[in-house]
Order: sequence, then structure tokens, then C-alpha cells
Amino acid sequence: MRPARLNPLFTSVRTLKGVGPRIEGLLDKLLAPKAQVPKSGTERGTENGTKSSGASGAGGHARLIDLLWHFPVGLVDRTRMPSIAESPLGQIVTLTVRVAEHRPGGGRRGRRAPYRVLVEDDKSALELVYFKADQRYLERLLPVGETRVISGRLEAYDGRLQMPHPDHVAFVDSEGVPEIEPVYPLTAGLSNTTLRKAIHGAIDVMPTLPEWIDAAFLKKNGWDTFTNSLNQLHSPETEDDLLPSNPARQRLAYDELLANQLALAILRATMKRRAGRSISAPGRLRRKILDALPFELTGAQARSLAEIDEDMADALHMLRLLQGDVGSGKTIVALLAMATAAEAGHQAALMAPTELLARQHLETIERFAAPAQLRVRLLTGRERGKDRLAILEDLKAGNIDILIGTHALFQEAIAFRDLGLAVIDEQHRFGVHQRLALQAKGANAGAELLVMTATPIPRTLLLTSHGDLDVSRLDEKPPGRQPVLTRTVSLERLDEVVEGIDRAVRGGAQVYWVCPLVSDSEMLDLAAAEERFAHLQKHFGDKVGLVHGKLAGKEKDAVMARFAAGDLSVLVSTTVIEVGVDVPNASIMIIEHAERFGLAQLHQLRGRVGRGAAQSSCVLLYKQPLGEIARERLNVMRSTEDGFVIAEEDLRLRGGGEVLGTRQSGLPAFRVAQLPEHQDLLAAARDEARLCLSRMPRLEGDQGERLRLLLYLFERDDAVKLMRAG
Ligand code: ADP
Ligand code: MG
Repeated sequence: MRPARLNPLFTSVRTLKGVGPRIEGLLDKLLAPKAQVPKSGTERGTENGTKSSGASGAGGHARLIDLLWHFPVGLVDRTRMPSIAESPLGQIVTLTVRVAEHRPGGGRRGRRAPYRVLVEDDKSALELVYFKADQRYLERLLPVGETRVISGRLEAYDGRLQMPHPDHVAFVDSEGVPEIEPVYPLTAGLSNTTLRKAIHGAIDVMPTLPEWIDAAFLKKNGWDTFTNSLNQLHSPETEDDLLPSNPARQRLAYDELLANQLALAILRATMKRRAGRSISAPGRLRRKILDALPFELTGAQARSLAEIDEDMADALHMLRLLQGDVGSGKTIVALLAMATAAEAGHQAALMAPTELLARQHLETIERFAAPAQLRVRLLTGRERGKDRLAILEDLKAGNIDILIGTHALFQEAIAFRDLGLAVIDEQHRFGVHQRLALQAKGANAGAELLVMTATPIPRTLLLTSHGDLDVSRLDEKPPGRQPVLTRTVSLERLDEVVEGIDRAVRGGAQVYWVCPLVSDSEMLDLAAAEERFAHLQKHFGDKVGLVHGKLAGKEKDAVMARFAAGDLSVLVSTTVIEVGVDVPNASIMIIEHAERFGLAQLHQLRGRVGRGAAQSSCVLLYKQPLGEIARERLNVMRSTEDGFVIAEEDLRLRGGGEVLGTRQSGLPAFRVAQLPEHQDLLAAARDEARLCLSRMPRLEGDQGERLRLLLYLFERDDAVKLMRAG
């Protein structure tokens, strides 16, 4: 249960004065997380340590706490001007004026003249203009003959000075017009003033909180209390106050990172605590597989495998991340680990994020595992009825060594005889909960866990997303790979590109043609892909196919199968092929509107080619004019194929502030902290989290209680629950 004193922060914004249903709706819209349709049952935000309910509560309603995390992005200077005559046009000005006259707008509805209020100072006059006026209200706000302070944008219209809809009208000696006003990101219909008032209303109900940061550390950094820091962030005085380097911002960023690191440390401790098992085998099956392989393991594969072996053999749980770029050979490493589990008499499971990938894994693994006579089966949402029952029975009876599937694998009904090793591929598509659920399917002790990701994650971010895991890196590509020639070409030269492809196709080449995410609407994306498909059909006839997310699983497979078999020469797709598709003969990748893709995505897509013996190429088609960041991105793509380098560049180029990129890669989206800007704080938070848990494994005592408060404040509720259960 959340400590009672925090409850006021988690109530609806409706509890604030001045927030009625209309404003509430606008705040919901502004502060509720951007709709992100969970694909194939994955959960939103679960990688963020162990976050529970999403940013704005399950129902998508804004709460006071959401207001607190909504920070200003600019400032308006409302310092008073000496006179109307000396005020600059086109800018926000603040003036002391006398109300001279009201001129209600006459005329019929529709063509109604605006309501004007004439105001003046000693030398000149100015009209305040209201397009939708409530006369009684305005007469009370601006009584004729009285003096008021007004603030808004000064404009000239028909030779007259005007101020349409002043932002502020206040008594002369009140504090109604702030000298420096923070400017917040808004939504249509919501004024900065209304939002600012709501935020200050939320600050006013901030409970007194105890200090969870070590006194010496606080002093060293010159940080203020949590509440004061929050207050300062909402009352910036200079542009510098808006920067990540602002001490108030740093303090809150540290708090958030500490909560994130504590949550991950708790998750890790909980999983490690469930008594591990020791899985090892002489390697008879592994030998058979290796002997039949047409290649040798790379140094990186051998090293990673040794690390996995060691984890599996010791008495603690394995919690390991195998990080390797597309094509670095993770599958075989996973298979060899699963062979050990099988030889030791246990079962293994491999979970993939999509059905397509699960099927592809099945094919590869069946082929490689055949010499060892491992019994490999597939279980996805598509296996139904009798087939499904048979698989479930075999699984329970121990007649299956390796089960490959989608998230269908961790459903309630699925019982292994003895799951020893769980492998999760492309883990960023799965949440912490799925991780726990699959691991929990292991016989009473729980299964060893190997997580694989092809997203090269910068070291800094790895700590925030996978801080609970040990890491093995496949930083060496299998030998004999030719580099992919990467070119950037303007869309204006589309015809030349098509001609080039035509020649290549006649020489037997196969081509991916990826159409971008144009909008939030899948329908529009689809339309773009269909149009390109129709266009290419004119050149390639029935040698061109189309896949997209709206196709049923079977249709999709059918198209993919025709491409894999070489019946299709050109495969047009939306980004559905992003993850893990393997057609070694495909040697050309065309990415249309490459400027719209993030670096990580471009890298993933390019990784689809360069898998076979042929020289491969990638054409990044872009639309002019290119923005500076887009240009840099394309340059990075041209200059390197190293996923880890690209990931670091990606982080540098977009900064941590760009939530979209973060969402796409499944990395945590922080509300205060910004990476890489706050990476020093992250390191400190990690050390502190570890220290805390070693001293107080269950966050015991007063300090433990304070840290728990911190976890709740940043909505890592699950971490607290885990600790209680584990
Ligand atoms: P990942 O899953 O990491 O993207 P895969 O496991 O699919 O990569 O491997 C990519 C390709 O490289 C596969 O065709 C695989 O058989 C091959 N491969 C894996 N390891 C080696 C190696 N050591 N030497 C040569 N080829 C390899
Ligand atoms: Mg793979």
C-alpha cells in the first residue's frame, strides 16, 4: 500500500480549485501518456524498472503528480514597460493602464464585431480585443476609470494598437502578474495561466517528505529538499534554470534514477533469492551440434557461452543479457545453452516477440539441433485444438526438449515437466512481468534466464533498462561478412534507383523495399506502401510482393515464404520486417524516406542484408530538404556498421529528451532525468541503490521506509510488492 501521506498527489486534478470537467479533460489530454498501442500483448512501460500503472493511471486521467512532473520549457519576461508608446510591437508586454471605455461588439452572430476595451496611459491609447466576450465579466474585470496591469502580445491593426485577449489583467499592487512567467507545453484550449495555477495548486498540497538522500551527498551537491527543488523548477528565473544542469533538476533526476535503480536491484535480488539450480553437462549433445556446424564459433560467441555455462552451473540463478547486433549469431549461442539444459535432463524454452520470428527460430534450431536429436516444437497462438493439446501433453510428459513460441508460452495452462532454461529473444518487446512469469514456470526453483537483444543499447541506458541483468556482448561478427555498401540518394532520383534494381534483379538479386511510418495512422502507412507496391508492379509484375501489419499471420507467412524461396524478387513492406527476418539471398535494402527513421531502426533494417555471400547494398532514399539531425543520422549510417557505435551516436543526436525514440526502443522514458546529460547521476544512483540493498535487503528501518516512499513517489510500486513477496 502506498504510504497515506502520498495519497493526495495521486488524486485526480479535479480536486484542485479552478479545475472543472472541461479543464480536467484538457489536462488528461496533455498529461496522459501518448497512446501507444501495445503490440501482441506486450505491456507499456514495464521495462522502466518495475513500473506499475503507467504514467497517468490506468484510466488515463491526469493526477496531481502528473502536473508536478510537467516542467516549463521557456520563460516569458513580463517586466513592466514604461509606457504604451515605448513598447515593442509583436512582443509580450506588460503595462499599467487606465480603463477609458467599453465598446461592446455589435452585429449579428457570425459577423459580430469583437468587444473592445479602450485603455490608455498619459501619452497613448490601446484597444484590448475580445472575440468571445462576456460583457458582465469584462465590466467587472476592467471597470471604467480604474487602473490595471495588463499583459499580452502587442499588435498593430488598421493603424491602431491592439492587444487581443490579454494573458493577464490584475490590480496594480497585487502579485497577479508574475515578472518572469514559466511557459509550459500546452494543448489546444488550455492556457498557460490555467495550467500554471493548477501546477501551483498541486505544489501546495505536497506533503512534507523526509530526506532520503544521504546528508553528505546532498551537501556536496548543494541540493535543496525534494519539495523546494520541485518548487524551484516551476519558478525559473533565468533560461539557465531550465537546463538539465540546474541543481534543482539534478536533484529530482537523481531521485528518479535512484528509484529506477532501486527497483531493478530489488528485482534482481528477488530473482536471485529464489534458490537457483545448478545445470551442467559433459557436453555430449553440444559436441554433436558443433561438429555438424559449417562454421566455427567466433571468439565472442565462445566467451559468451562460457559466461552462460558458468552462470547455469553455479547454484544461483542466471540472469543474463546476451547483447549482440543483428547477425552476430545469438541463436546458435542460445541453442548450445539449451542443449546443455537438455543433456542435464531439463527442458528449455525460447520465447520470441512475434510469430514470424518464432517460426524462423524453429526452422534454424530444428536444423542445427537435428544431429543431437533434440525434440523441438513450436507453440504460438496459432496452434489450436488437438495440435495444441498434444503439444501441452508432450510438454508435461517431458517429450519435448525445446519449446519455441511467442508470449503464448507463459499462459497459465502451459506446464513444463521441468523447465531449466528460459531464453527470451528481443526482450525489449517483453515486460518485466513476462520475464518473471516465464521464469516462474521453472520447477519450484524457477528457470535460469537468458535474455537476448539485438538492439545495441548504449552503456548508459543499459543500466536503466537492464540494470538487473549481467551482460554478455557479442561484439564480433562472424567472419567472411562483406560490409554493406550504404548510399544516400534523393527521392528525386527514384527512377534511377528502380532501374538499378531492375538490373540487379535480372542478375538474380533480391530486394527489400521498406516504406516508412508516415503518421500515427496505420491506414495511412499502409496506403503509402500499397502505392509503392503498385508502382513497382509496373516494373516487376508478379515478382513483387507486399507485407504489412494488417495481413493475417498466414498471409504474411505466405508472402515471406515466397520471398525466402526466391519466387519474389522485391518485397515491399511497412516496418514489419524490422525484427529478425532472415533471407540470406536478399542483398539490397531500399529504405524510403530514410530521414523519418531513427538511427536504431535504420541500423536494424540494414541488418537484413549482408547475410549471404553476395555483396550487399543499402540505399537510403531521402526527401529534400534534410534537417540537420536527419543529415547527421544518414552520415552516421554511411560511415559505420557497428551497432554499438550507432547506438551511442543515436543517443548523442537525439538526446534523452526525445521520448519517441526511447519508446520505440523499449527503453524507459523518464519524467525528470535526461540521458546522457544526467549519466553521472545515474552512476551515483546505481552505487547508492546497491549499497542500500546490501545494508537493508528489505529496506528495513527508517531509511528503508524513506526509500520506499521514494519508490512509491516514482510509481515503482511493483518493486515494493516484489520485495514483500520474494
Ligand atoms: P542474430 O540472431 O544474432 O541476429 P543469427 O543467430 O540469426 O544472428 O545468425 C546470423 C547468421 O550467421 C546465421 O545464418 C548463422 O547461421 C550465422 N552464424 C552464426 N554464427 C556464426 C559463425 N560463428 N560463423 C559463421 N556464421 C555464423
Ligand atoms: Mg536473432
